[in-house]
Amino acid sequence: MSGSVNVSAGRSYLAIPGPSVVPDQVLQAMHRASPNIYAGELIEMTATLIPDLRRVARTRHHAAIYISNGHGAWEAALQNTLQPGDLVLVPASGRFAIGWSEMADGLGIETEVLDFGNHAPWNLDQIAERLAADKEHRIKAVLGVHVDTSSSIRNDIAGLRRLLDAAGHPALLMADCIASLGCDRFEMDDWGVDVMVTACQKGLMVPAGISFVFFNGKADAARAALPRVSRYWDWRPRANPEEFYQYFGGTAPTHHLYGLRAALDMIHAEGVENTWARHAHLARAIWAACEAWGAEGALKMNVPDRSLRSNAVTALHMPPPDGTRLRQWLEENLGLTLGIGLGMAPSGSPEWHGFFRLGHMGHVNGHMVMGLLGGIETGLKALGIPHGRGALEAAAGALAGR
Ligand SMILES: *Cc1c(COP(=O)(O)O)cnc(C)c1O
Repeated sequence: MSGSVNVSAGRSYLAIPGPSVVPDQVLQAMHRASPNIYAGELIEMTATLIPDLRRVARTRHHAAIYISNGHGAWEAALQNTLQPGDLVLVPASGRFAIGWSEMADGLGIETEVLDFGNHAPWNLDQIAERLAADKEHRIKAVLGVHVDTSSSIRNDIAGLRRLLDAAGHPALLMADCIASLGCDRFEMDDWGVDVMVTACQKGLMVPAGISFVFFNGKADAARAALPRVSRYWDWRPRANPEEFYQYFGGTAPTHHLYGLRAALDMIHAEGVENTWARHAHLARAIWAACEAWGAEGALKMNVPDRSLRSNAVTALHMPPPDGTRLRQWLEENLGLTLGIGLGMAPSGSPEWHGFFRLGHMGHVNGHMVMGLLGGIETGLKALGIPHGRGALEAAAGALAGR
């Protein structure tokens, strides 16, 4: 920090869109000796996770746990429902939808991406037309990313279900809620979602390492009709284990399970609907600040329309290289780490240095958000990046409900 004092010592703050901040309660639950994996307390505790996971996913149906990150959950969902040569439709509003389609492609599944770019939500009329044209029902599944973490656009999963029903189309509806679960409202059963994938390191507040696939009877019927299913990815023994090891296809991820138990206790103590409300309220403070900065300067929010924005992540842009300059300055001088831009420009290209993201998912509260915004205001000033005034006042006003 030129001419002044470095103030980065103290607790660092990782404000990237996953992994998110891990609560002390979760870390403490994980800090223990390895338990017996054949009998006793771990076995009983694991059984308690399933109903509590279902309550976060808002489903009465099945849950399977995988020792993997979100990419593993993507693969698991595909492996249990589709076979090479099947066609999937992938409406895309960012990099993560493309990523899921690439996983399908790698399994020999035919993919059709309807790409709406990095700034717009799905055009439901266009998707409806495509479904109506599919008279022979070649499309076996529609893969929808609820919140695309690259663009921070939240898409209308319930709207996809209405389209499928209106077209009388039997394709499975699969949702990626890796960024949104526990942050943005999601209702698996009420929205008619057949398969939902998520992972533990975002709204669920656990260090990366386990992921989840929720599936209903219709999806399991698709699984039953496949000629073969990968033994490891098969969701049936995981969802209905006869032996404890079958939950995980092998040794249990013991410490992650203790961490998850603590995280689910926190989520249910707060109430799932209250976690949504908290994320929505905090997001409004962040948007108020970003909109104020952008009023005069060159900072732009990727999603202009508030109703299309995720409550868990905010994608931003400034003329390059100021995005990277700001990120680096904040990390070095304040101990605050913002997210890089993802999928908006080729990684490392000159344009890439204009994009950055704020993660505000999981274990985040009012003073953290004000610290995040105050940090950014400080960085803009320190670096001489032009910006509108009144951002912190606007954020405080939004938090105070005024
Ligand atoms: C983070 C994320 C993924 C990928 O998860 P990994 O754990 O990094 O494999 C996929 N989809 C969305 C929407 C995400 O936010």
